[in-house]
Amino acid sequence: MKTIGLIGGMSWESSAEYYRLINQDMKQRLGGHHNARSVMVTVSFERIKALQHAQRWDELGECMQQAALQVQAAGADFVLLCTNTMHRVAPALEAALDIPFLHIVDPTAQALRRSGITRVGLLGTAFTMEQDFYRGRMRERHGIEVVVPQAADRALVHGIIYDELCHGIVRDRSRDAYRRIIDDLQDRGVGGVILGCTEIALLIGQDDVALPVFDTTALHAQAAVGWALEGAVATH
Ligand code: GLU
Repeated sequence: MKTIGLIGGMSWESSAEYYRLINQDMKQRLGGHHNARSVMVTVSFERIKALQHAQRWDELGECMQQAALQVQAAGADFVLLCTNTMHRVAPALEAALDIPFLHIVDPTAQALRRSGITRVGLLGTAFTMEQDFYRGRMRERHGIEVVVPQAADRALVHGIIYDELCHGIVRDRSRDAYRRIIDDLQDRGVGGVILGCTEIALLIGQDDVALPVFDTTALHAQAAVGWALEGAVATH
């Protein structure tokens, strides 16, 4: 079994989900008392959040490089970044690493393709919904068209992530708002919706909406267990 390297994030609410999902999946696959072998580095989300909202992506790239090198030095065989948003600086991070990087878009896109979906809605932070790093990779590498909510709803989705979910606060009225926004996306002809923020599954899941849901946290964690067990690293 390979050692999974995790850069937690950026809230510990998300890191805890990854840790739980990876270990549950490994135990389910191998049985007994099997854990996933893993190491995790946690950074200060307070600082990261300030840099994100100041659009200081170069500095964020440096922060993620440092974290990635810590994970590598701790013995990881490959690295996951447990946040969609910070994949904005994935190229910088990958450039610093000698070990493979499991990009969050790829297992999500593979799950969409398996479901035959080529036009999908996306919920995430404003950075993820509005910049091209995420939608561009979906489009260019996977041939998937991404549709995002209207501006006012993007602001609502973003606010709920930072002000509630990243603090572990789960409110019924926020779930209702997400439900309505997902319904609007469905009316615009998407075949599914990406929960493109690693805290969103704390709020809403497949039981809450009719549209097929693609939870990036679960798909990323599942792919990591696959890599750890199947030697995918050697062929990547
Ligand atoms: N975890 C969130 C994401 O997946 C947002 C918070 C952050 O990590 O910046 O985008």
